[in-house]
Amino acid sequence: MPQFRILGSGAGTGVPSFFCSCPACQEARENPEYTRTRSGASVLTNNTMVLIDASPDLRSQLVKNNITKIDSVFLSHWHYDHFSGLGELEYYVKLDRIEKLPLYLPPSAVAQFESAFPNLLDIFNIIPWQFGQRYQFGEVCLTPLVANHSIETAGLLIESNEKRLAYFTDTSGLPEETEKFVSGADWLICDATFYGKNWYPHSHMSVEQAVELGRQVKAKETILTHLSMHYSQAVTTEALKSAVSRYPNVLVAHDGMVIEI
Ligand SMILES: [Zn+2]
Ligand SMILES: [Zn+2]
Repeated sequence: MPQFRILGSGAGTGVPSFFCSCPACQEARENPEYTRTRSGASVLTNNTMVLIDASPDLRSQLVKNNITKIDSVFLSHWHYDHFSGLGELEYYVKLDRIEKLPLYLPPSAVAQFESAFPNLLDIFNIIPWQFGQRYQFGEVCLTPLVANHSIETAGLLIESNEKRLAYFTDTSGLPEETEKFVSGADWLICDATFYGKNWYPHSHMSVEQAVELGRQVKAKETILTHLSMHYSQAVTTEALKSAVSRYPNVLVAHDGMVIEI
């Protein structure tokens, strides 16, 4: 059965942040299982491993989750917390994989990739993805769908033979055409960057807004991710879990969370 795995469930600063001593960061220092690395996921299907986003924490994520082989990389958008781990793959490709690694990029990010990582041009095979196109990997189909973020950003609809999972780590609500695609999904894994006030209402969501979006699209289960835990209001994982326990079918993501699809 294909397996979807959340490698990182944190927003841009991660938890703990090296410069922060809020209760959420203290909780994670004391209990490393509450650490939230920057956002990313993987899909394993028929011995094919697709990496979704390459966070600055990529190396530790791969080691911790025993991922020893990558067949494709799919980037949702060109923000530091989602792309900056690409350099971690240079030695893997040169020493182990040998062949170029397919890298699916937002079309608008191709030029930025080329200027940011000129030394990686010979290890990746660049494929600009297209919204609405279906990309088949093993038994699983990935479709990039338009998200509401500050730059060109895809959420992914991930379909196996039986299940549908929508993965939207960076979005503020969903455009109407995207809502239709994800309606009734078995899982909506959703941007819930803010607890309390949403500083960036045009590009991210709060916990409450994410719960509401899950209801609106009739997701069977809503999983909150891209959690800052400490932007406008600090919240520990313990407190967040207890706050969302009053909503049916809503879960808080954690690093290493696995969903069989
Ligand atoms: Zn972003
Ligand atoms: Zn992000």
